[in-house]
Amino acid sequence: MVNVKLDTPAQYLKGVGPKLAKLLKKLGVETIEDLIYLFPRAYEDRTNIKPIGSLSSSDFEVVKGEVISVNHQITRSRFSVLKVILSDRSGSIQVVWFNQPYLQKLIRRGMRLIVSGKVEFSSFDNTMQISAKDFEIFTGQNPKIVPIYPLTEGLYPKKTRSLIHTALDNCLDMIDEWLPEDICKANKLCDLPEAINDLHYPQKISDVEPARRRLAFDDFFLFQLSLGLRRTKIKKEKGIAFKIDQKVLTDFRKSLPFKLTSAQDRVLSEIISDMQSDFPMNRLLQGDVGSGKTIVAAIAALIAIQNGYQAAIMAPTEILAQQHYAKLTHLFEGFDIKIKLLTGATKRNATRNSSTRQPVTNLFIGTHALIQDKVTFDKLGLVVIDEQHRFGVLQRSTLVKKGINPDVLVMTATPIPRSLALTLYGDLERCTIDEMPPGRIPIKTFYVPEKKRQDAYEFMRKKIKEGRQIFVVCPLVEESEKVDLKAAMDEAERLQKEIFPEYKVGLMHGRLKSDEKDKIMKDFKSGKLHILVSTTVIEVGIDIPNASVMVIEHAERFGLSQLHQLRGRIGRGKEESFCFLIANTKTEESKTRIKAMIESTDGFYIAEVDLKLRGPGDFYGTKQSGLPNFRVADIIRDAKILTEARQSAFKLIETDIKSARNIWESQRKKIKGSLTSSTIN
Ligand code: ADP
Ligand code: MG
Repeated sequence: MVNVKLDTPAQYLKGVGPKLAKLLKKLGVETIEDLIYLFPRAYEDRTNIKPIGSLSSSDFEVVKGEVISVNHQITRSRFSVLKVILSDRSGSIQVVWFNQPYLQKLIRRGMRLIVSGKVEFSSFDNTMQISAKDFEIFTGQNPKIVPIYPLTEGLYPKKTRSLIHTALDNCLDMIDEWLPEDICKANKLCDLPEAINDLHYPQKISDVEPARRRLAFDDFFLFQLSLGLRRTKIKKEKGIAFKIDQKVLTDFRKSLPFKLTSAQDRVLSEIISDMQSDFPMNRLLQGDVGSGKTIVAAIAALIAIQNGYQAAIMAPTEILAQQHYAKLTHLFEGFDIKIKLLTGATKRNATRNSSTRQPVTNLFIGTHALIQDKVTFDKLGLVVIDEQHRFGVLQRSTLVKKGINPDVLVMTATPIPRSLALTLYGDLERCTIDEMPPGRIPIKTFYVPEKKRQDAYEFMRKKIKEGRQIFVVCPLVEESEKVDLKAAMDEAERLQKEIFPEYKVGLMHGRLKSDEKDKIMKDFKSGKLHILVSTTVIEVGIDIPNASVMVIEHAERFGLSQLHQLRGRIGRGKEESFCFLIANTKTEESKTRIKAMIESTDGFYIAEVDLKLRGPGDFYGTKQSGLPNFRVADIIRDAKILTEARQSAFKLIETDIKSARNIWESQRKKIKGSLTSSTIN
């Protein structure tokens, strides 16, 4: 064997060839180091193997005994079956392997084996049988606690184990401790080679946790180090130091029909102080649906504009952009501010007639049309990105680059659990509007089983008579879009013809042209339509205070955070609002989701439950999650370690930026997956 090092391709390890190397690649293993960092997903505890005589049927068992007989058969369908009788003093059991004929040469009478698999008792001939999932020859030195590695087709567990064992034998002593000693000490971490060894081959189960903790700390530490370094870099860049004209701000506030909540005031003062300082603002504004983020964004825009700069607000959908446009046009009435809407629909017009270069426009509101190549800005000083998780990272940075280090405010109505926020937005300053405008009455949510559907309709009728309007939401999942679209259309027709012939039912979905969408929204807003059947296009931002009832069909098909977003479309007016979840709660998970919705209207609580149910990868949808692939760390389970690692990383940057940079440079390859995606630049 060649002299292997940590960065030697796994293929050159003894026992691996090109074929196996390919399989290992599927597990993300390229080098020997990767192999060493391929950790068990579970352990098999063999410290207490049951005597064969005491076994009963079970899904998984480990047995140990001597081979009494070996019998290989080929069935009529040319299937290989190897049957071995294994026995200890207490009894015997038949071990069966399917389609591994080569094993008959390996397994001989008199050998002692350890076998694991599913145990079945056959009352027909009164025998026990185990279908072998895994086995090894007993040598007396077998580990008592056996690592179970991730599997991929064609790679036997035994093979993976022996490869990793070889890799550890050859290279574990080449692993260097890279974490500064004082950080290890302060966080009570065991040293790296020891942690790696213990994670593969713990002497006792209680050795696993400290080892895991050390390696999870490493994952988080490196990632936080990268975020912290990026943040430091941004703070060094020269941004715009906006001047604050108190009079204009006061005038604007006075023009509002309400007083800002104290939460709005608080985030605003943070934003203002960011805008005043001469490094670029890079801030995340969180706030549940309806908490009043738009006003805050408007004031930030006003400041930029007062300073002679342009501001841009990017929204994820056309409807939302239009709505922002309408709202801000109204808010800025009486202020000398030129606002332009730039969406897919208006785009052509806009670039031809009055290009964004014309300094006459102060505020741009738009969709991703804003980031097209053709669109250039004269003096872009503030970028506001609404509902940010819907935009790819690239889209965001493209807009930001259209200005010269503009201030950036990212807004999201998807409450993000702290642990996730520290990872996804760990390089942004964060602030939260944690209070709803006064006078809101909490939405009442009910689960409606199919047989109670008529009761819900009666309730709707009563509310329409009282002058209210109603949303009916049908799910639209991308893969089955056509079918779902049809379902929404049918539902609208059914409601119109069979249930509410005396009222007007409208239908809204993503396939409509934008002027059609426009008309429907206008009709609903003006009260011409009583009921709006819609797919999830209404999820974000729609503001119709008179709509006080929402019916969600097939609520079991929506994610929890999505349900919460949808529900946020009602409860915006003075009337008490009601949400009916019509659902088939077959799975436990769907029950948990519906229950969380009924119990709580707190977006953060709901987000925490959602994160636990779905895992961080799916929380936003896998593609856009922007989460790094940590080797060991788990954002949910290890939230506490995350906080510790973040503190240590940020402290190191503060006290010794040089070694922080060195560590990052030498260790950055340890983090796989998207590193840049969580950041704006
Ligand atoms: P979101 O945070 O979902 O973007 P909006 O900014 O659209 O919320 O605000 C939701 C509604 O609450 C709007 O109709 C807005 O005019 C109103 N609103 C915002 N702030 C206040 C406030 N301080 N007092 C009363 N109403 C408010
Ligand atoms: Mg909003």
